[in-house]
Amino acid sequence: MDFSVLYIGSGQATWNGAVPLAKTGVKVGVIEESQYGGVCSNKGCNAKIILDKPLQLIDQIKALQGRGLDGVPAVNWEDLMAHKHELIVPQDQHGKDRLDNVGIQTINGHAEFVDAHTVEVGEKTYTADKIVIATGLRPHRLDIPGAENFENSTDFLSLPHMPEHVTILGGGFVAIEFATIASAVGAKVDVITRGKQILKQFPKEYVASIQADLKKAGVRFIPDMEISHAEKDEEAGTITLQGPKAFELTTDYVLDATGRVPNHDQLNLEAVGVKANKNGIEVNEYLQTNVENIYAAGDAVDKTTPKLTPTAAFESRYLAAKFMGENNDPIKYPAISEIVFTSPRIAQVGVHLDEAKANPDKYEIEEASYDGDWYRQVENEQGGQLALIFEKDTHQLVGAAEKANAAEETINTIVPYVQMRLTKEQLNDFVYVFPSIAYTLQRRLPLV
Ligand SMILES: Cc1cc2nc3c(=O)[nH]c(=O)nc-3n(C[C@H](O)[C@H](O)[C@H](O)COP(=O)(O)OP(=O)(O)OC[C@H]3O[C@@H](n4cnc5c(N)ncnc54)[C@H](O)[C@@H]3O)c2cc1C
Repeated sequence: MDFSVLYIGSGQATWNGAVPLAKTGVKVGVIEESQYGGVCSNKGCNAKIILDKPLQLIDQIKALQGRGLDGVPAVNWEDLMAHKHELIVPQDQHGKDRLDNVGIQTINGHAEFVDAHTVEVGEKTYTADKIVIATGLRPHRLDIPGAENFENSTDFLSLPHMPEHVTILGGGFVAIEFATIASAVGAKVDVITRGKQILKQFPKEYVASIQADLKKAGVRFIPDMEISHAEKDEEAGTITLQGPKAFELTTDYVLDATGRVPNHDQLNLEAVGVKANKNGIEVNEYLQTNVENIYAAGDAVDKTTPKLTPTAAFESRYLAAKFMGENNDPIKYPAISEIVFTSPRIAQVGVHLDEAKANPDKYEIEEASYDGDWYRQVENEQGGQLALIFEKDTHQLVGAAEKANAAEETINTIVPYVQMRLTKEQLNDFVYVFPSIAYTLQRRLPLV
């Protein structure tokens, strides 16, 4: 065999486990057809946050007008994009170096299965004892006439100039984060959704508040709408969208953010009989497919766990520990945290707030507003909300949600508490830096 473990794809679901595995002397190979490091490093999380952060900063500056700050800096999208390129372009090489440096053989090209132990890349074949499918997702494209005029999230993250009128199809986290960015840069933004509810995985009350903020900023939401046809006017450079419900909208730019689909349809899985469906590769609780030596990790997997970087990295580390013989237990996910980078952010961990509200016999909820909190008033932040979810029987913390500028910091502080299922008493037993987000959080905790 050429390798002990051969990974297809080089994203978070690969390198987090492949690197420590190779460091123990295991012969590891990684096949990548595009950029090393995968979507998150090159065309996802990292690129997005570079474009988002300065815009959030501007919102914070706006909140302090007349309170020590005069004037709001203008956004220069072209410069911001250049800053993004400067940081993101090297990621591909960094991703490759990270693997090369620990002796992993990197193979450029598109991989397809030949048999359960053999993968083909162009003219060459590679054999391995174990194979990990970590091929991730690609943007979904609406299957309607004219959809070739739409752009996807990768295009948006390299948009050279912000169009005057941006229309976004979809209501998931990518759609709403990009609506936030486009609107902050000054575009007129329309968000078209098939249903009514955006950001379905986050607390409805917090989402309604974010949506109201976006509407106030001029973002138009068009719910319950199917787009059936699109036409480009080459001369005017505009795109006209039409729907079956006598709907017509002319815009400068259409971002198709209607979801992401697995890449496994391009792996020749038929050759090995690995079971997969429209959500991903089917695996058991060891991330093993129905073919004994073939595993899957990350976004490529059919799973209910959110398809995010931290979950992909966790699965990658789990598999590496399994391959090293350090862990033979089924995968046990810790409390999962999630965020949507709107302004303010919504972040959550563990049991969801809406689920807790729907089950008052099981959960106790402690809610707090940050209005009046002196530390939030430092930035003149309004409307921040926090919810802590305790299990009724044990009084242990099992979840939390926050809508605030620094929600990622609060929720990250809470992650270990939820993981350790601390009680209200135990939550008061920490001494934090003051003033700080964590200290503020502790003061919002119920006094016992
Ligand atoms: C716009 C955007 C923003 C995001 N923001 C966040 C965020 O803020 N926080 C967060 O946690 N997550 C975010 N995500 C999700 C995150 O990027 C993914 O969860 C993460 O990248 C999954 O890692 P992965 O290794 O499973 O797959 P990927 O990163 O998709 O890597 C798979 C790799 O496999 C390669 N590949 C596919 N097929 C083949 C083949 N046949 N042969 C060879 N190579 C192949 C691909 O080229 C790719 O590099 C975002 C995603 C997008 C699109």
